[in-house]
Amino acid sequence: MSGFNLLHLVTKNQPVKLKACGLPSGTCRTKKTWPRCFSQEELRKRLTPIQYHVTQEKGTESAFRGEYTDNKEEGTYSCVVCGAPLFTSDKKFDSGSGWPSFFDLIKEDSISLTDDLSYGMHRMEASCSECGAHLGHLFDDGPRPTGKRYCINSASLSFQSKNAGPEGVEPGGATGQSASSSKSDL
Ligand SMILES: [Zn+2]
Repeated sequence: MSGFNLLHLVTKNQPVKLKACGLPSGTCRTKKTWPRCFSQEELRKRLTPIQYHVTQEKGTESAFRGEYTDNKEEGTYSCVVCGAPLFTSDKKFDSGSGWPSFFDLIKEDSISLTDDLSYGMHRMEASCSECGAHLGHLFDDGPRPTGKRYCINSASLSFQSKNAGPEGVEPGGATGQSASSSKSDL
């Protein structure tokens, strides 16, 4: 009977279950669903073109051009997209590669590693475990004790200087002009 076939067609046409991040492709860059998602629109507004290109399109900034390549300040490096803390300045070293390089992470699982076979090479791609932002690559030629070299784009990072204090507003608010408000003048 042909009626049976018709029914079969109808039931097959059920709505597809929405993904956790039901946004157009490109937002969650890979098939994997990341804990944190951001809309492409928001990121385009919030990030600079190079930050967007590197984190969302797996781009690479020019060597020696990145903001943090030679940064020697003490502090924490976080994902520029979601703010997850990734590296500390005491794990940064001068690799001479032209990109900020670290030999260890703050937390083992703060970065997700995937095989990257592009450009005829086998590299390990490093992405933020929270939002999937592309960060750079991991190599095995780093210094002791880990022997690892996280070669990270400055454009993927935001830096919080230790001297600036932890995130949050200082109640004193003494920025720039201070001391004059005290009643110590005679
Ligand atoms: Zn992130």
